[in-house]
Amino acid sequence: MSTHRIAVIAGDGIGREVMPEGLRVLAAAADRFDLDLQFTTIDWANCDYYLQHGEMMPADWFEQLKGFDALYFGAAGWPDKVPDHISLWGSLLKFRRGFDQYVNLRPVRLMPGVPCPLANRKVGDIDFYVVRENTEGEYSAVGGRMFEGTERETVVQESIFTRKGVDRILKYAFDLAQRRPKKHLTSATKSNGMAISMPYWDERVEAMAASYPEVRCDKYHIDILCARFVLSPERFDVVVASNLFGDILSDLGPACAGTIGIAPSANLNPERDFPSLFEPVHGSAPDIYGRNIANPIGMIWSGAMMLDFLGQGDAAHGAAHDAILRAIERVLVDGPLTPDMGGAASTSDVGLAIVDAL
Ligand code: ATP
Ligand code: MG
Repeated sequence: MSTHRIAVIAGDGIGREVMPEGLRVLAAAADRFDLDLQFTTIDWANCDYYLQHGEMMPADWFEQLKGFDALYFGAAGWPDKVPDHISLWGSLLKFRRGFDQYVNLRPVRLMPGVPCPLANRKVGDIDFYVVRENTEGEYSAVGGRMFEGTERETVVQESIFTRKGVDRILKYAFDLAQRRPKKHLTSATKSNGMAISMPYWDERVEAMAASYPEVRCDKYHIDILCARFVLSPERFDVVVASNLFGDILSDLGPACAGTIGIAPSANLNPERDFPSLFEPVHGSAPDIYGRNIANPIGMIWSGAMMLDFLGQGDAAHGAAHDAILRAIERVLVDGPLTPDMGGAASTSDVGLAIVDAL
């Protein structure tokens, strides 16, 4: 039995409320499937720490965390006290870049019992992944202001696409598509508008497609792709996109499949040189913090993704992942549910019910 060392970073706001439920379910799954999970609580990377120390994390955060197998992360941010760009850039974005978590992976799946905002959709119709490039592309800090204060005032922000960066995200997406029954990959582009970077992206997609003859490969401009997410989500299987386009799609996708409170995500370093990070899609939600009504399912589902990744295809880990998803589905259908899903249950009621179902 292999041991997995997991750093537990609850962060801010409802991150602190949903984390205990995530840990409760992981502990139950470890028990049932005989997995050895060792949790270490990290009490920094939150805004209280920032207010005391002037930084979100200690200077040696990298050294302290690099030896873990995974980071299980709640949410960061408390906009009343600390501006979002400080809390995010000082924690989550440092993890993503420092640990080279270049894949941002979000499953988009319509789950049983969840009302779909799109008309006439049933379970099974929406079931795909958004694979977002997480380290380069449009989100660079290269650029600046010129001629400030004059009529010629001009602002430039560069996009950076490297062969290495583009090829590795495409390879991850093609591999994922290859493993799925539909074997269908959709690439987001905008080569008619961004006439330098996106034609390069398209070229790399075509080059890689040659090595995956079984994968059917489509490309869509980002504008029509957004429309297709809403009008015909059933046509997608694996959708791969640059940092900016992926950011947009990975919020739009889960929104098409229901409430934000249940959506999970993973930030992966597939080579396992550094820990990968697993977090719910939602943020710290200051508006509902402190009432024990946050939906813990996004946190719990992210924990299931973590087990799957840690197990690298091992049967017990795969079974634990599947069992947690079945337990989530059961509770989504039978309750109890938190208020965001129309119920009256508390965060911990839902966590306990998922453990029972497991
Ligand atoms: P980010 O930190 O990504 O910027 P945000 O500030 O855009 O996040 P969230 O913190 O996710 O947004 O909150 C958006 C809305 O969704 C809020 O009204 C919040 O109450 C609600 N919400 C978010 N997560 C949950 C949850 N787990 N359960 C119930 N409601 C939630
Ligand atoms: Mg926020």
